[in-house]
Amino acid sequence: MKMNKPKMASEKGVPSTSKVHILLAQLERMTGDSMVTDPEASRQITSKLLHLIQTQEKTGREVMSKGTSGMEVILSSLESTRDSQTTLNILCILSELLTLGKGRRVGAFVSKGGTGVLLRILISASREGQPSEELMLQLHSLLAKVGLKDRKLGVKARLSGAVNVTVNLIKKNLQNIKLLLPCLQVLRVYSVNMVNAISLGKSGAIELMFKILAPYSKKNTSLIKVTVDALAALLKSKTNARRAVEAGYVSTLLSVYMDWHRHDTWHRHTVIRKGLLCCLRNITNIRLGRRAFTNADGMRILYNSSSECLTVRTLDPLVNTSSLIMRKCFPKNRLPLPTIKSAFHHQLTHVLPSGPVAQLYSQPPGGRTNTQLCNEPLKKVDDVVDDSDDNEDMDADTENDTENEEDEKDEKDPRSLNEDIEKDINKLHPQKSPGRPFEELKVYERFFVELTEDFQGHNIDCSTTASTTSSSSSARPSRPVIVPTAQALSPNHVTTQNSQVLCPPHKGRDPPSPPSTATAPLPPPALQLDTFRFNKELSKKEEMQQELLHALECVSVKAEAFLNADKHKGSSISTRKPSQSPLLLEGIAIRCMAGGGGSDCGSEGTEDEGAVLEVPDTAQLLPLHDLDLYVEMVKGTHSVPQYTEVAYPDYFGHVAPTFREPLLERVYGVQRSKIFQDIERLIHPNDILDKLLYDLDVPSCPVIESDGESLKFNSQFESGNLRKAIQVRKYEYDLVLNSDINSNHHHQWFYFEVSGMRVGTMYRFNIINCEKSNSQFNYGMQVLMYSVQEAISGRPRWVRTGTDICYYKNHFARSSIATGGQKGKSYYTMSFSTSFSHKDDVCYFTYHYPYTYSSLKMHLFKLEAMRTPEIYLRQDVLCETLGGNSCPLLTITAMPESNSSDHICQFRNRPLIFLSARVHPGETNASWVMKGTLEFLMGASSQAASLREAYIFKIVPMLNPDGVVNGNDRCSLSGEDLNRQWQNPDAELHPTIYHTKSLLQYLAHMQRAPLVFCDYHGHSRKKNVFMYGCSVKETIWQTNISAASTELQEDLGYRALPKILSQIAPAFSMGSCSFVVERSKESTARVVVWREIGVQRSYTMESTVCGCDQGKYKGFQIGTRELEEMGAQFCVALLRLKRMTGVHNHQHLLDLESDLIGTQPKVVSSCSTTYVMDEDEPSFLEAVDYSAESNDEDGEADSEAGASSRDVSGTPDSCAAVRLSDSESSKEAWKTGRVANQ
Ligand SMILES: [Zn+2]
Repeated sequence: MKMNKPKMASEKGVPSTSKVHILLAQLERMTGDSMVTDPEASRQITSKLLHLIQTQEKTGREVMSKGTSGMEVILSSLESTRDSQTTLNILCILSELLTLGKGRRVGAFVSKGGTGVLLRILISASREGQPSEELMLQLHSLLAKVGLKDRKLGVKARLSGAVNVTVNLIKKNLQNIKLLLPCLQVLRVYSVNMVNAISLGKSGAIELMFKILAPYSKKNTSLIKVTVDALAALLKSKTNARRAVEAGYVSTLLSVYMDWHRHDTWHRHTVIRKGLLCCLRNITNIRLGRRAFTNADGMRILYNSSSECLTVRTLDPLVNTSSLIMRKCFPKNRLPLPTIKSAFHHQLTHVLPSGPVAQLYSQPPGGRTNTQLCNEPLKKVDDVVDDSDDNEDMDADTENDTENEEDEKDEKDPRSLNEDIEKDINKLHPQKSPGRPFEELKVYERFFVELTEDFQGHNIDCSTTASTTSSSSSARPSRPVIVPTAQALSPNHVTTQNSQVLCPPHKGRDPPSPPSTATAPLPPPALQLDTFRFNKELSKKEEMQQELLHALECVSVKAEAFLNADKHKGSSISTRKPSQSPLLLEGIAIRCMAGGGGSDCGSEGTEDEGAVLEVPDTAQLLPLHDLDLYVEMVKGTHSVPQYTEVAYPDYFGHVAPTFREPLLERVYGVQRSKIFQDIERLIHPNDILDKLLYDLDVPSCPVIESDGESLKFNSQFESGNLRKAIQVRKYEYDLVLNSDINSNHHHQWFYFEVSGMRVGTMYRFNIINCEKSNSQFNYGMQVLMYSVQEAISGRPRWVRTGTDICYYKNHFARSSIATGGQKGKSYYTMSFSTSFSHKDDVCYFTYHYPYTYSSLKMHLFKLEAMRTPEIYLRQDVLCETLGGNSCPLLTITAMPESNSSDHICQFRNRPLIFLSARVHPGETNASWVMKGTLEFLMGASSQAASLREAYIFKIVPMLNPDGVVNGNDRCSLSGEDLNRQWQNPDAELHPTIYHTKSLLQYLAHMQRAPLVFCDYHGHSRKKNVFMYGCSVKETIWQTNISAASTELQEDLGYRALPKILSQIAPAFSMGSCSFVVERSKESTARVVVWREIGVQRSYTMESTVCGCDQGKYKGFQIGTRELEEMGAQFCVALLRLKRMTGVHNHQHLLDLESDLIGTQPKVVSSCSTTYVMDEDEPSFLEAVDYSAESNDEDGEADSEAGASSRDVSGTPDSCAAVRLSDSESSKEAWKTGRVANQ
């Protein structure tokens, strides 16, 4: 390449008379032939120039200043000279020039082709046989500088053959420190390129590095540093890593590291130590390396060394890297389970030929059925983990494919954003599918009595045909139901319960007894259902009357005390005589809580005590709660494990605390210390108790007799799902969750009971089989705890609790069989610590505020009582579920004003609003939102009345009762996600979906498709409440498909409702909404109702399980109060939608909505709201180190996180994304990476 002849500069304020410019002009004139013919002159000029630059700093500035062509002149001279002294002079000039300027000068040098010139000189010099050492030194020094700016240097060097020149030079000059250093610097740059690294490995570069690597020494530390760095870069190649392992270098690295660790007492060389760890980190990316590491006792070595570093904060990088390596090398374990299939099995009548269930069924049988309660030993099916899975990468290096593309590797392929978007323009047109023939749908007419009823034969106020869900179920023979206690853990509790006289627990008034006393700790309270069935047992009624009289004396006091309980903690409860039957007084029931007395755990400490605790009814605080009614409802609820116990929190109810619960601030180092404790298990295995406390997989579950040294666990009640509890240390427990029934995964939801605790002790709990790759537990969310003692004291409530909460990848893995082909995916640990403040308490922990199917039935029953003559409320049973539970359907509207035909006509022609919730059982927040909606709709406010007059509401409040009852997280008893069945629901396997869809199809046939359809969900990975909708236009925006402009004509009506919500509901965030149709969601309710039923306003509403990062609740965790408020605000928004539009005037509607869309949302979010990070969350000080393995990250996307969820839009300026109020905002929202839970 011939350089363009540079124009000599004498412009731009640089005095043309300056010495430098004269010299440069002379040099320029020489460029070309005279450079060769007159070497002496060129030597002189360059030498003078060098001297000037070395002595006067401004000279350099003049050469490099903008608008001059000094650099061009120098480079072109360098190219044309054949004189070695001149070359050296110029190289020295460049070296001086490029040392200053913070890389800007290097940038200029690179942009003017300097790299190529240097490489050419290097190659030609190397051909001369014995190149001058000085020349090589200068060339490499310059290349090392260039390497900082020229990312293509590695490729250029390889293509020009310069890589080998450098390697050979190193080989020949191992003792020549001065020359070695720049050569190694250049080698480090070359090695970053994978192709280079592999070829360098072949030519012996790794062995070379180990020759230079040395034990601790104060000398030549920069040489060691660059050697270590180059080695680390080389070892990124798996081929090289293998080469290093086979040469036995893993133990070499470990001993060199330990040497530096021991001798570098003042921590002056942590960069070298870190570099050595990086070598180990890269080498252990391959299985061979991990094995070599453990064989060389690497775990113990790194554990001990990093333990010594823990106290010095500046050594954090060492500790963190060590921890990463140890986690990778921690041997993969199987979960302590015989099979990861659910402990319970539900026999299906048939199984669809494909899908998850078919897959599961094709495996050898392993799960137990509810009828074969483990009389036969379980067949050992190792679906838990197998050796072939060990998270191994491919053996061959794939790096060859990336030739010349290393620059682009880090950038995300923008096309991947679009992977999941629906691009088929035909599918984007809402097309009312013919569905089923009307003859088939006619049977659904009975669910729409209001559309045909003429009310002529009715008095207006007796229209309800209320067939409450409980009526059918209560006909079943009721089985004994007991409220669970730790005592109930005793295997014989079922037979002994009827005759027990139960003693009460001690309340806070007792000083806690020392833990080591001989007497067994006082058992926690127990409630027996039989004692509540007083209304059915006449013999007890007399007894009751007497009790009633007796109790009346103190009730007024008690009631008072109860109401003030929050202020006077513990003072409201007094001891009373034991009693066996509950007492019922005007709205305030006093329960005789009895504890202890268990046949197997010694009751001498309690018998004489005889204290009784009065349990206040929460009726005044919880108008929709009724303890007795709840128990009645439980009796009619069918669970696969045939639960006979009731959890206290569901029995007492939950009164939202009046205080706010802020998001937990994450403490630096929490995750690290937890991980270190995990690693200690391997280092000090003898410290691990490994004591099994609770196990659904053994016939006598629960298995434990209390010895006072362990907590007791229970989860055998509605929505409970603990499978196993193991005490690992004195105050630390590993917990395993049960899979969804007929499934082998879906663990997120949890709900279990703990008792036998010591007061004031910090306990650590680890749920070890979580599946999602990240969790809001890393971003401020706490678990929820319910204390029975607190409830008895008048504070029946779930509170956010737990410290040191973190969520990280652990060393348990699943086999590829279990994951359906994906190789050895790891599980995650959710770890939290907490202490207990009451002795003899029974506490419950859960993922989110429970809301059981029995609670729903109770609430529906109580809603009936809220009905006034003006309200039209009908409760139907839509269908029975697979598990034999009924799925309620509600109709709510206003009664017609009169029997006049006008009023009847208005009544019938009201637009329909169709709502559903809880298709995913783990999303209990959806039920609380629904509760808010239902209570608002049934309320006495004028808004509620207007709303009822405006619309007919059709509501399926729980689409998946079986999942809820059995403690599932996501599926129904068919083992499938019901929100992926809307396209072709199976009448037998997905009855609730099938019939709900039929209702909508019926309406479509009647030309009465609902105005709004909304399915309530919960979102586990995002904050706030937000909606997903369907828009053709906004979908097309995200694709490259060309659409006729007519395609983009779209009614903006779908935006109105979320827009209103963002203005009135504090928790709602417009910025998180999206209106894109994704292919992975094509069988969800939202998309099917939009596409097939033709409902433009078809939504999924997602509520956070965590909290809010915008609006009034910013910085706080979400509670039931906020969730219920959301449900109420949803109603208010519907009313506004109606008022704004006068639903029939469509053009008017459009105008108004366009107006609305132009208005500002209620909250202008601050810049701290970041929607662009993965999972929406900003990073914090301690990296979320949830994926220790570097190899399987690509396999992380779980089924519900589509490709788009991993997207990072690359626009960290989130303000724009949040504040956008026009059509752009949805584009942004979409881009910001959604993880749809719907
Ligand atoms: Zn969901």
